[in-house]
Amino acid sequence: MEVSRRTFVKCTLAGGAGLSAFGFDLKPVYAQTQALKIDRTSETRSTCPYCSVSCGVIIHTLSDKGKNSTPQVVHVEGDPDHPINRGTLCPKGASLEQDIVNERRLLKPQVRRPGSDHWEDISWDQATSEIARLIKRTRDETFIEKDANGRTVNRCEGIAWAGGCTDTNELNYLAVKAMRSMGVVYFETQARV
Ligand code: SF4
Repeated sequence: MEVSRRTFVKCTLAGGAGLSAFGFDLKPVYAQTQALKIDRTSETRSTCPYCSVSCGVIIHTLSDKGKNSTPQVVHVEGDPDHPINRGTLCPKGASLEQDIVNERRLLKPQVRRPGSDHWEDISWDQATSEIARLIKRTRDETFIEKDANGRTVNRCEGIAWAGGCTDTNELNYLAVKAMRSMGVVYFETQARV
């Protein structure tokens, strides 16, 4: 028998009425169906990573915090207490949950070698070592001790730093320390906060 949506709703309502007639208390059932999916989540405040507006978001995660449980992000919404967006999000920010919970999300560093036509997975240790080696080589090759007029400048013009809007104050502090210690002068961040 084919059941239309209308028939299904009718039967469901009739069934509920019938159970009530038999003395079953359906209030707890109705209360449960009306519970929000964020009722038992923990909230984490963060920043939307998509653009320089840097809207504040609340990430809702479901987990019983047990050792063998995997926390699951179930909802992301605008942070009403955030001074930039006051709870609002544009369509991109409103779809942030799909960015976090996504089977196509990259979870490992990848590298595309010169001349190669594909990306390959590498370990975090390998990525860190390769980045450090390339930074050292670039810094040594492009470091300038004196400018054309003989003035001491000690700057590295071969490296630039671009920060993102989700970078914390602490990360930015360390980034400035690390980059300036190498003489990096080209320094920028995406965020306007
Ligand atoms: S919610 Fe939209 S406007 Fe706000 S930071 Fe994200 S992308 Fe930018």
